[in-house]
Amino acid sequence: MATERDYYAILGVQRTSSDAEIKRAYRKLAQQWHPDVSQEPAAAERFKEVNEAYQVLSDPQRRQTYDMFGRAGLGDIGSDFGSGFASGFGGFGDIFDAFFGGATTGRRGRPLAGSDLRYDLRITFEEAVKGTTKEIEFPVLVRCETCAGSGAKPGTSPITCPQCGGRGEVQSVRQTMLGQMINVTTCPRCRGEGRIIEEPCETCRGDGRVEKKRKLEVTIPPGIDEGHQIRLSNEGEVGPRGGPAGSLYVAVHVTPHPSLRREGTELIYDADISVAQAALGTRITVPTVDGDEEMEIKPGTQPGTEVRLRGRGVPHLRRSGSRGDLHVFVNVVVPTRLNRRQRELLEELAAEGKESVSTNGSSIREKIRDALA
Ligand SMILES: [Zn+2]
Ligand SMILES: [Zn+2]
Repeated sequence: MATERDYYAILGVQRTSSDAEIKRAYRKLAQQWHPDVSQEPAAAERFKEVNEAYQVLSDPQRRQTYDMFGRAGLGDIGSDFGSGFASGFGGFGDIFDAFFGGATTGRRGRPLAGSDLRYDLRITFEEAVKGTTKEIEFPVLVRCETCAGSGAKPGTSPITCPQCGGRGEVQSVRQTMLGQMINVTTCPRCRGEGRIIEEPCETCRGDGRVEKKRKLEVTIPPGIDEGHQIRLSNEGEVGPRGGPAGSLYVAVHVTPHPSLRREGTELIYDADISVAQAALGTRITVPTVDGDEEMEIKPGTQPGTEVRLRGRGVPHLRRSGSRGDLHVFVNVVVPTRLNRRQRELLEELAAEGKESVSTNGSSIREKIRDALA
């Protein structure tokens, strides 16, 4: 578990480091791992870890307790505080306000990133197993060619926001019982971009982007399954006024096979055979993704017997060359309706084995049918 790591190691400082060194290390890491800033998937977890470590090591008394007894000495307080902390703090500004009196503002005016898009793509069972390429077409916001994405009328350019001086955020100071509180919020004038447009481009009305249809070839790797998503970075919407593009997520939906079931890389087929076939043996046809295949059922096969066709399953998505198996489960079907001849034969079979059976078990319906035959 990540939270079991040593607090000094998390902050990359020595046990002898001064308070100032710990604070410096924390600031650097908090900036690096802030979920609003870092694109790493583990960012939120690392951010939480860094906060937890700093909470303890920045408090002389708790640091001493930790030095002597480790995490156990801190009891529940240490972990509870750590876990509640990251969620309790919202934006980048908040955290620096809390610890450094708002001296650092993390966010500078910057263009907003474009939205991610989702495209739902349906493919067949066989395509999911073998892989395929699909052409997709979708509307997307792309950079406006008239203004090259700036949103400003050609010949003009955006100006620095006069309200925030280009920082993209504004500070307000409040007096509270605990002293001065500095609150940092996104600039309402430029909405955090730091620049404003005085004369908007006529094509895009100052947005810097226009809607267009885009065609793409999407490669579906063999082994993909229902619910998987393929991420195509930079194929989402571009951001307004020169902002970076989001991603396109292709959500894959797989049409079920009429007779095969899939569990990861394994395929399952339930083969129904009769009592006579189970006892005497037979050949059956098994559907596979490579076409029908003949399979032998040995005489005396029991219900529930599994026969495996090795390497006839689904390829591993990440291990090329390796493929699962096709599992055939034999289901022996006991007849529920018998004509007179079938009944006689089964009664003879029972007599041969000296088995006691119900001889007058024929249903009324069967009696009527036999009488009419
Ligand atoms: Zn434009
Ligand atoms: Zn502004």
